[in-house]
Amino acid sequence: MIRMSDVSMVYDNGTRAVHKATLRIDEGEFVFLTGSSGSGKSTLIKLLTGEIRPTSGRIVVNNYNIGNIKKREIPYLRRTLGVVFQDFRLIPDKSVYENVAFAMRAIGARNRAIRKRVRYVLDLVGLNEKMDVRPQELSGGEQQRVAIARALVNNPRLIIADEPTGNLDPARSLELMTLFEKINELGTTILIVTHEKELVDKFEKRVIVINNGEIISDQTGGYYEYEESYEL
Ligand code: ADP
Repeated sequence: MIRMSDVSMVYDNGTRAVHKATLRIDEGEFVFLTGSSGSGKSTLIKLLTGEIRPTSGRIVVNNYNIGNIKKREIPYLRRTLGVVFQDFRLIPDKSVYENVAFAMRAIGARNRAIRKRVRYVLDLVGLNEKMDVRPQELSGGEQQRVAIARALVNNPRLIIADEPTGNLDPARSLELMTLFEKINELGTTILIVTHEKELVDKFEKRVIVINNGEIISDQTGGYYEYEESYEL
């Protein structure tokens, strides 16, 4: 699913954002990626989605080799991934239904398949009754759930969520994580980027900690190593 070996990313201005990262995430896993601001989390995600290419090292995501992927292959890689952004990125003048259906139309799905699948994913995220409203009529938590439904609609093998709880209060954040757990139980691999320690600690999941571009901890069941190590 995800294989990174000795991956480094140095931006054009000389900033070393990721340094010799080695990482393996298998099908069906639920993983938190955490670390303080500027530690390299977004860079790592951009490397996985093919938005940027590593300076050195090897990255394979869903059988695509990111180091030498052709531009025309990137849309195919992206179809195997569902990405959820912190700022939702919903289309304001389209209904909830259309926001989700749009992602299926973009890959040429038929109307009948779209109707069936969109209803299924909206039901999964608990928004079937909000199908006809526009995003601005929803709460932050509901908007984030639309974004998750959209990420799921093309049945990706892997969901990557970048700070999905950034704009939510603690109760909504917990609800959202529980939803990701449910999606994971249905078979989708989940990678969640977050800096919310308390939230991560509530779940007995694998936690990868990045600091100063280096993976400094990778273990199941909490974030506790992080505070001791991140001063290093
Ligand atoms: P995080 O997501 O953990 O906050 P980032 O991956 O955004 O961390 O950033 C890691 C480091 O790389 C930081 O020092 C940041 O300033 C730098 N950085 C991020 N994007 C760029 C860029 N496009 N050009 C140069 N430096 C960047």
